[in-house]
Amino acid sequence: MPDHAARSLAGSQNAFEEACRLMPGGVSSPVRAFKAVGGTPLFIKEGLGCIIKDVDGNSYIDYVASYGPLIVGHAHERVVASLAKAIGHGTSFGAPTELETQLAGEIIAAMPSIEMVRFVNSGTEAVMSAIRLARAATGRDKIVKCIGCYHGHADSLLVQAGSGALTLGVPSSPGVPKSITENTLLAPYNNLDAADKLFSQHGKEMACFVVEPVAGNMGVVPPAAGYLQGLRELCTRHGALLLFDEVMTGFRVALGGAQQIFNVKPDLTCLGKVIGGGLPVGAYGGRRDLMQQISPSGPVYQAGTLSGNPLAMSAGLATLEILKEPGAYQALEQRGAALEAGLKEAAQSAGVPLVVNRVGSMLTPFFVKTGDRVTNFDQAAACDTAAYAKFFHAMLDQGVFLAPSQFEAMFIGLAHGEQQIAQTIAAAKKAMKGIGASRSKKK
Ligand SMILES: *Cc1c(COP(=O)(O)O)cnc(C)c1O
Repeated sequence: MPDHAARSLAGSQNAFEEACRLMPGGVSSPVRAFKAVGGTPLFIKEGLGCIIKDVDGNSYIDYVASYGPLIVGHAHERVVASLAKAIGHGTSFGAPTELETQLAGEIIAAMPSIEMVRFVNSGTEAVMSAIRLARAATGRDKIVKCIGCYHGHADSLLVQAGSGALTLGVPSSPGVPKSITENTLLAPYNNLDAADKLFSQHGKEMACFVVEPVAGNMGVVPPAAGYLQGLRELCTRHGALLLFDEVMTGFRVALGGAQQIFNVKPDLTCLGKVIGGGLPVGAYGGRRDLMQQISPSGPVYQAGTLSGNPLAMSAGLATLEILKEPGAYQALEQRGAALEAGLKEAAQSAGVPLVVNRVGSMLTPFFVKTGDRVTNFDQAAACDTAAYAKFFHAMLDQGVFLAPSQFEAMFIGLAHGEQQIAQTIAAAKKAMKGIGASRSKKK
């Protein structure tokens, strides 16, 4: 294992100081600033496969993977070739290209609930637009979202949101008018009784229930048995639409997303991350009768100057092609399972209480204070974030880059080989020992 004891961060420190003068918090997205774990964010120079290198020349095994999109690894030769081919022919036209139809075809083939799809530029845009459609199609204003789920930063969804909003302890953001959020109802994740109650009170006003079918933005929390089926029934019974936000899980947990694994058919699905192969993309799709209400076939307006961008489509197409090869998801599952087992064992032998939640290649090690399960936001929020911060830094010192927050997922990709997984587990053993030792001193 590389010796990171003498790791210099001078380059990142300088770059961060300079960035902080010019950009709020020095970053383009808040979690990147390391606020929850302390220290200087790494400024990244390059990535190849599962390894990233910072501006000081330190290498790390990368489990952030740009928060999910890089499932085939950084600078995969086939993605690079596909991009190189596209870029030589122009980067944007404001006119349709066949690449969009191709990627639409791939998505529709992989996800039977999607009959038509519209491309946008981010997951945020996808969910925002899908909600507009749900409201238009039902003629209702209210939506339900789950506490701790994150659906991007659109006004109506920035209430008790996960990811960065949760990491930074923002219950909902200033600048979001009450008149908007009063139409957003909140439900605890994995609680069908609570959803049932909300529907019996507000069912007639409810446009849609939006949910991450596997929560990933309060850390990974899989759906309880029957939860998604129950939501499906409630929505159908009350004439509301079921909207799966698969921006993280789509093409990540299976080719057909979480809806394939749990066998539940939503009315609308949002995608992003993996389908752009590391370039900015989002998409929303669903039943034909719904999607035909989108402009210009229908009256629901939604547009985008760079939507369906040829570079983004090319990177997405190359990524999906690699994922469609036989054995891809089995490999991801195997490596995920190996990492899960290794993390559990490392924690156990150091006497550190740890819950590892995993679905395929996304997982979160939760440093629980009490209890042995994390099934909702309250349990996730009660975790020992100081212990996570210690773990994060101990791993970083050993050349393993995790998300700088307890409330994010670790992403395993096809580029993570057995050797890197073993290296990660060895690092975790050391890190857990340190945490176990400082715990027993406190007692
Ligand atoms: C990342 C994410 C989003 C937001 O996507 P952006 O591209 O960051 O706007 C929305 N929903 C879920 C579930 C996500 O994981």
